[in-house]
Amino acid sequence: MSYDENNINMFCVQCKDWIDGDWSEHGCPSGYWVVADKEMVGIAERLYSMGITPMTAIWTATELGAWNDYEYQLTVKIDIGSRISEAVLGELPKGWHYFWSTAPPIKVDMHMIAYVEHWYNFGFDESAEERIAKQIKEFEEFLETRDAEAVKALLLLTTG
Ligand SMILES: [Zn+2]
Repeated sequence: MSYDENNINMFCVQCKDWIDGDWSEHGCPSGYWVVADKEMVGIAERLYSMGITPMTAIWTATELGAWNDYEYQLTVKIDIGSRISEAVLGELPKGWHYFWSTAPPIKVDMHMIAYVEHWYNFGFDESAEERIAKQIKEFEEFLETRDAEAVKALLLLTTG
C-alpha cells in the first residue's frame, strides 16, 4: 500500500487557499503556487513567510517488504526551488537533511529539504501516518523557532 497519490493539490501561499478548478483563473502569480499535501500547508506557509516559497511539499509512506503494514519508507519532501545557504535555516531537526543534487550518473538539479526514514511498525502506539504527522509537526515547530526577518536578511546576503 502506498499513500503517494492521495490528496495532492495546489495551494496558493499568497492568498492561503487551495486552487480549485481551472488554475488559469487563479489571480495570484504561479510563483506562489505550491503542489502540496494538505498536511504540509503549515510548513509551506511558514517557509513562505520567511521568503522561501516551496514548489512542492509532499509526504509519502511507501510500504516495503513482505509483511503487511510493517516496513515503510517514510519521506517528507520540500522542494524549495533554488539552493540556499545552509546557514539561513541552520541545523535542521534530527532526520531532516538538505539535498542539493542526486548522485551520478543522473545529474538533476535538486533543491530539497527532506525527512527520510526507514521505519518499522512494531505495533506500538503509532501508525505510519501518525509517524509522518509527528515529523511534520516537529518541522513546523522548528520553523517557528526561526526569526523570519533574520532568515529573509540572510537569504538576501547569501544569494545572488
Ligand atoms: Zn492565490
